[in-house]
Amino acid sequence: MTLSPRALTALRVVAETLVDGADGGGADLARRVAGHVAMLPRAADRAELNLLLKLFESRVVNLLIAGIPRPLSAMTPAQREHYLRGWATSRLPPRRKAFQALKRLVTVAHYTTPGTARVLGYPGPPGPPPAVPKPIRPLAITRDTTLTCDVVVVGSGAGGAVVAAELAAAGKDVVVLEKGGYHNEADFTQQEGDGLERLYDAGGLLATRDLSLVILQGATLGGGTVVNYTTSFATPEAVRDEWAQEHGLPHFAGAEFTRSLDAAARRIGVNTDHAMPSGRDRVLIRGLEKLGWHHGLLPRNVRGCSQDDACGYCGYGCRAGAKQSTLVTYLPDAVARGARIVVDCDVRRVAISAGQATGVEARVGTHALTVRAGAVVVACGSIHSPALLLRSGVHLPALGRFLALHPATAVFGAMDEAVRPWTGTLQAHYSDQFADLDHGYGFKFETAPVHPSFLALAAPWESAAQYADRMGRLAHTAVCGILLRDRFGGRVSIDREGCPVVDYRVSRYDAAHLHRALAAAAELLEAAGAREIWAPLARWISYQPGAKSARADWVARVDAAGWGANQLLLATFHQMASCRMGASAQTSVVDPEHRVWGVRGLYVADASVFPTSSGVNPMLTIMGIAQRAAHVIVTH
Ligand SMILES: Cc1cc2nc3c(=O)[nH]c(=O)nc-3n(C[C@H](O)[C@H](O)[C@H](O)COP(=O)(O)OP(=O)(O)OC[C@H]3O[C@@H](n4cnc5c(N)ncnc54)[C@H](O)[C@@H]3O)c2cc1C
Repeated sequence: MTLSPRALTALRVVAETLVDGADGGGADLARRVAGHVAMLPRAADRAELNLLLKLFESRVVNLLIAGIPRPLSAMTPAQREHYLRGWATSRLPPRRKAFQALKRLVTVAHYTTPGTARVLGYPGPPGPPPAVPKPIRPLAITRDTTLTCDVVVVGSGAGGAVVAAELAAAGKDVVVLEKGGYHNEADFTQQEGDGLERLYDAGGLLATRDLSLVILQGATLGGGTVVNYTTSFATPEAVRDEWAQEHGLPHFAGAEFTRSLDAAARRIGVNTDHAMPSGRDRVLIRGLEKLGWHHGLLPRNVRGCSQDDACGYCGYGCRAGAKQSTLVTYLPDAVARGARIVVDCDVRRVAISAGQATGVEARVGTHALTVRAGAVVVACGSIHSPALLLRSGVHLPALGRFLALHPATAVFGAMDEAVRPWTGTLQAHYSDQFADLDHGYGFKFETAPVHPSFLALAAPWESAAQYADRMGRLAHTAVCGILLRDRFGGRVSIDREGCPVVDYRVSRYDAAHLHRALAAAAELLEAAGAREIWAPLARWISYQPGAKSARADWVARVDAAGWGANQLLLATFHQMASCRMGASAQTSVVDPEHRVWGVRGLYVADASVFPTSSGVNPMLTIMGIAQRAAHVIVTH
């Protein structure tokens, strides 16, 4: 148990204060949250939470902070709410961070407990998963083991799986190492808590160091492609030109890259025949049409997707096998051509000797796995790829820098109609009305399934009753998702244990676009008929359309509430550019042929090699890049 008894007492009281009618009087919920705290990857984060909770029980601290000379557990319910509200809306960033840490842990744990969300009118997934066999047989590692191969690929997501399949097709002996487990249709319970825990990195609890941005990424065989929303845009021409011209990478503008993108799109079945609007999309389209703003059908990588009530849960894996993730495409291709796959395998280091990569060192449970290989392809995603290279002693000035995150947020609308925002096609429509505000930088509008955990994260907390009331309106909540193309990035470094630490601050330039996005999203929801409009801020700030200046007043109140860390909820679904490709070892991590500068036989082939953010959902771009990477690796 990470938390001390004193901290656990405080956690129980926090749980009871945040959540109306927490089950088991808060004790059960606190125990579950404590379990999640124990799963946090960084010891520093676990220790910080323990200390914070112990401080809540200090009379002196509470006297100084809130003028209440009592431990939290001895305060009256009204005092506790006042006390926590003070943390939520404090002018001091560390206090807001502390509040958000607890609010996210407690409310998400509560609303993802099976059955709890029924009171919200949320039915949960339809029945149990189908009993289908598992076609892939991962290699069992039952003792300390050494394997040899031509190429070892670390990570099995959009980048890794494509490289593995293409290299295997070219006759290479390939081993794929994946940190996550092997879960297929038969395992997709689509229960939120279970899905987050089994399929997402760190159980969905990853965030930037200051918690200002929630980091969502897959960690299962197939990586992000298993949990993603199937939107499959090709790399925009303007972005390809930018990468070619401004980053010294002419191949991005050429026919070779077009062929790679086309090949990947064919293999994952990209089409626009599965864009039946969900309730969320219908609201979006209504608003866009009323305003005369651009909208279009989303290309999706699905085959035979029913787009009905059973859909929308596929952020926790598609039970129908309709989503053409790498789990059902490139990984079986790789296996059919002899590739070996090891799951639950955490690669700790790339072995580098005299400037040459010779393999990797990994852990599978309690066993050591050594893989000796002629070449190593790192494809752990944009958070873990730089971390692995840093752990392996690679020193390059650009390593871990320029991390782009496509910061995402949303504006919500209370509708008369039952939107049931968790269900229907994952994403069907989008708008590029504001995608090019300045040299290709701006934002897209898309929707995304809103399950109880999403609303729990987004809904401002001011009191348990107000929060419960907001959650109770889930079924009538519409969402206008904002996806920002960020121009200025953050950084991945590692802590003493080698865990990634992510620092990211929305730049002034990007914040101006975000500001515009919030106002435009509100205008859209207003046009679509929303009765009340709000943003996921630390404070409840909403408006009811009608009066002429209502929206402008709302924007002014949002501004006054502040845009600092943990004042507006931001999340990233797309991590990119932390090992970027370029023409010089001073400003990039890999050369135009995916080789890490200065290390022979070491390649990177995932979203981390993007020179900048892509501006569109990145999966297909990653696959196109990985397809080409395999071809250049074969020729080396
Ligand atoms: C909820 C959600 C929805 C999304 N929706 C879309 C969408 O609709 N369209 C779109 O284009 N994109 C979408 N994305 C993003 C897209 O899925 C990712 O950008 C893409 O999967 C990234 O590919 P990658 O190869 O860089 O990394 P990943 O696909 O994340 O694969 C990296 C893999 O490496 C493994 N790994 C990490 N560290 C290690 C280690 N040390 N040892 C071994 N293995 C390791 C991880 O477990 C993971 O499986 C979404 C993402 C999420 C989370």
